[in-house]
Amino acid sequence: MPANSVDILVVGGGIHGAAIARDAAGRGLKVMLAEKEDYASFTSSASSKLAHGGLRYLEHMEFGLVRESLSERAGLLRTAPHLVSPLKFLLPIFAWQKRSAWFVHTGLALYDLLSLGGEMPGSGRLAQSEIDALPYLRHDHLKAVLHYHDAHADDARLTLSAALDARGRGADIANRRTVTAIVPLANGYTATIVERGGTNEVEARFIVNTAGPFVGQLDAMIPHGPSPQNIRFVRGSHIVVPMPEPAETCAYTLQDEGERIIFSIPWLGGNFLMIGTTDIPQTGAPGHAVCSNQEKAYLLDAYNRYFSRSGGPVADSDIVFDWAGLRTLHGSPDKAASRISREVTLETSTQGNGGFLSLVGGKLTTHRATAEQVLARLRSMGLEMGPAWTRNTPQYGGTLDRKTLFARAAEGPAVVSQHTRQRWAFTYGDKIETLYGQLQTDPGLAEEIAPGVPRVELEHVASVEDAGTSEDFLMRRTKLQLFLDEAGREMIEDWFAKN
Ligand SMILES: Cc1cc2nc3c(=O)[nH]c(=O)nc-3n(C[C@H](O)[C@H](O)[C@H](O)COP(=O)(O)OP(=O)(O)OC[C@H]3O[C@@H](n4cnc5c(N)ncnc54)[C@H](O)[C@@H]3O)c2cc1C
Repeated sequence: MPANSVDILVVGGGIHGAAIARDAAGRGLKVMLAEKEDYASFTSSASSKLAHGGLRYLEHMEFGLVRESLSERAGLLRTAPHLVSPLKFLLPIFAWQKRSAWFVHTGLALYDLLSLGGEMPGSGRLAQSEIDALPYLRHDHLKAVLHYHDAHADDARLTLSAALDARGRGADIANRRTVTAIVPLANGYTATIVERGGTNEVEARFIVNTAGPFVGQLDAMIPHGPSPQNIRFVRGSHIVVPMPEPAETCAYTLQDEGERIIFSIPWLGGNFLMIGTTDIPQTGAPGHAVCSNQEKAYLLDAYNRYFSRSGGPVADSDIVFDWAGLRTLHGSPDKAASRISREVTLETSTQGNGGFLSLVGGKLTTHRATAEQVLARLRSMGLEMGPAWTRNTPQYGGTLDRKTLFARAAEGPAVVSQHTRQRWAFTYGDKIETLYGQLQTDPGLAEEIAPGVPRVELEHVASVEDAGTSEDFLMRRTKLQLFLDEAGREMIEDWFAKN
């Protein structure tokens, strides 16, 4: 195979592209991944950050989807313990809600049944004494509080870890690499790629389009490909407020006045509450989505309807952060967005002995299984490859369980604070050993570039994790954007400008 030719070119470094590149590389295929901005810079860093079965899909009788998601949730807890952790949810039932306690209880029993073997605690109902101890939940018309478990996931780092694992298995992975044109060949395609100021041509037998909201733009580059006309967007936004005192320790699943579900989730070590999400049809060209003032008001209203704080309702001025992402759906223009399935859809077209595959939809939780599904489809199109291998293989950084990670953070080098070491353990997982090793060789690397950010960490993210800007580091490699003040953020910006 010539140097500039690959078996698969994956376009898009969100969770799906990264997972497909990882799986394919591990099966012995020659893979290139192109990500035009930073890994996870669109939908895969804008999710609700849950590895979950999707309790509400039970209402739509999507038992297969829920069972698969619960099985993948269990797999993620095992293979990425540094990034995915169990989370207890409370589900209050009020007299004014559409769904009765009995109905929800039955749903939770089914959820337990479908997650059998997943080692999560079962669902149940809080005793009155436990309800009385909840600090903020309103009690008027409260009929019951149910509980169940799901998992929290660091979406951006899960994406990054799949991309880095793919690289470790031989794939050519890069961010700030854009596919700008695709031309069919007798067998496969030539893609034009712009990166780091230059333009290259790459021959690919198969192209996998995981461009998320931009999937239609890529589809439109090839003749007779999937139809870009059927792509729709629904915007989902989240707001973040500081955690009140005393802190909430559980997440809440809240029903709004209709049938929508809103989550209130303790986030980032319990320092913040994340509240989301909305579901607003979005028209026009895709891009970075923005949480509107109406969405902020809707989420604040929803929260304040359930909770009462002594200092008064949570207000717009309490919001310290927000984000929005686009769900990309595939369905005919005359169908209501709410009626279009959220399951992943794959569309293909062939080009000689090669082909083009376009992916729409899907879930963060099921990305590994979706990657397997994609590779099975490519195999059916004639691409020979090794067997599936990802189910039980630790993700990048994922070889240490949570107990060991706590212990490694506790016993690490004293030149770095315990707080920073703990943050490292649940950010870099077993790669904390790399940071410790470098500090042992050169203790000068403990010098803080910004409060709580030693130089060794910045050198690591820049050289190993492809972080090229302060935003890559503060927003996606870590969430230090929410912890550093403006001066601290500027120190990080200066470092990236000089290095
Ligand atoms: C509001 C919201 C909440 C959600 N919450 C959850 C949740 O809690 N749990 C869950 O399991 N799922 C959740 N999901 C679903 C999940 O987040 C998405 O299914 C998933 O992130 C989609 O990933 P992707 O890789 O398909 O797309 P993206 O993450 O959008 O990635 C596409 C990438 O392609 C790149 N790209 C585009 N064009 C080009 C080009 N020409 N060249 C190179 N690169 C290109 C983009 O820069 C982008 O990074 C949520 C989704 C939304 C919108």
